[in-house]
Amino acid sequence: MEALKRADSAINELIDKEFHRLESTINLIASENYCPLPVREAVGSILTNKYAEGYPGRRYYAGCQFVDEIENLARDRCKTLFQAEHANVQPHSGSQANAAVYFAALKPGDTVVAMSLKSGGHLTHGHPINFSGTFYNFINYEVDEQTQEIDYAAIQQIVTEHKPKLIVAGASAYSRSINFAEFRKIADSVGALLMVDMAHIAGLVAAHLHASPVPYADFVTSTTHKTLRGPRGGFILCKKEWAAQIDRAVMPGLQGGPFMNVIAGKAVAYHLAMQPEYVEYQKQIIRNAQALANEFRNLGYDLVSKETDNHLFILDLRSKELTGKEAEETLESIDIYVNRNTIPFDPQSPFVTSGIRLGTPMLTSRHMKEEQMRQIAIWIDQALQNRNDENILKDLKDKVQLFCQQFPFE
Ligand code: PLP
Repeated sequence: MEALKRADSAINELIDKEFHRLESTINLIASENYCPLPVREAVGSILTNKYAEGYPGRRYYAGCQFVDEIENLARDRCKTLFQAEHANVQPHSGSQANAAVYFAALKPGDTVVAMSLKSGGHLTHGHPINFSGTFYNFINYEVDEQTQEIDYAAIQQIVTEHKPKLIVAGASAYSRSINFAEFRKIADSVGALLMVDMAHIAGLVAAHLHASPVPYADFVTSTTHKTLRGPRGGFILCKKEWAAQIDRAVMPGLQGGPFMNVIAGKAVAYHLAMQPEYVEYQKQIIRNAQALANEFRNLGYDLVSKETDNHLFILDLRSKELTGKEAEETLESIDIYVNRNTIPFDPQSPFVTSGIRLGTPMLTSRHMKEEQMRQIAIWIDQALQNRNDENILKDLKDKVQLFCQQFPFE
């Protein structure tokens, strides 16, 4: 990045440092990934110059002939990848995609049923400090206290009692497969609409390794930057009958000019997701998550909801007499990144928490396999057990540094 180096050495140096951080640390943050170089090239391109309010063929700006083709390619690829009737690829983020569905389908004050943040839902699923919980009447469901899995009968009861206009399925921290057909049945029992937020599992859905919500949901929202491995951004899929309302809700409802550079990056990411090696990548994400989970079980750790079917799981650290915050901080000191995370019915505050969330999309992008997962679990356990021993932590940090050199990323 020669021009940047000449124009602004401060930012250039910080980007270099961030590159080095990404290269030299073990990143288990389940919502992050290494965005491929061709996608980054599209996002960093001159497309950032273009104003293109509106949609292909119906823009409020001149000179949109090429960006129209780019957005059409992005939409068509997205529809093909997920076998959807309509796609809107303009949302700047997953939160904007969720906001657009609410704006299209609801009136302020309408009732919505969604998973609580503590059970694994997202802030935009009705948390009181989020716009969703401020403008709409969200009723949250929890996972079952014993199994820590989604309890469809309990959701049915809540839905029968509250008769929501919309039901939201999907989560940020839930390791089991979600039964979208069951959610559809529950929605139909009261004539509710169904939205599935597949932000976390979109890559697995694209590779047919998790059941697709598309046949069941009126709306599917997603991010592009998690398992899907695209640029930072969002998109919405819906049935044809909702296409015009969803498009209007995104623009002019919530956004102005789309980020055409990011839309080009999304188009490249959808294209990469249609290549045969992508399915192998997604399969390895799951194999790695299961290998990591198994090793933690062997080391005596408790997993929330016992198993993982996807790219992540949550360790319940109560039996180790540790909080999520202590664990996150200890691991950061040896260059291993995880998030502290609430467990269902967590006795600790969301700032402290009793768990950590671990995900494998990033390490799998660096071509790590089951053997490396087992090694990482052992290092994590050693660090947590010896969190007050500076010598052991220093030794583990050195091992992590050496190990990372064997797994470069593009
Ligand atoms: N939905 C879910 C399930 C998520 O996990 C997230 C992000 O963590 C979002 C929506 C929001 O995405 P963004 O951070 O792009 O707004």
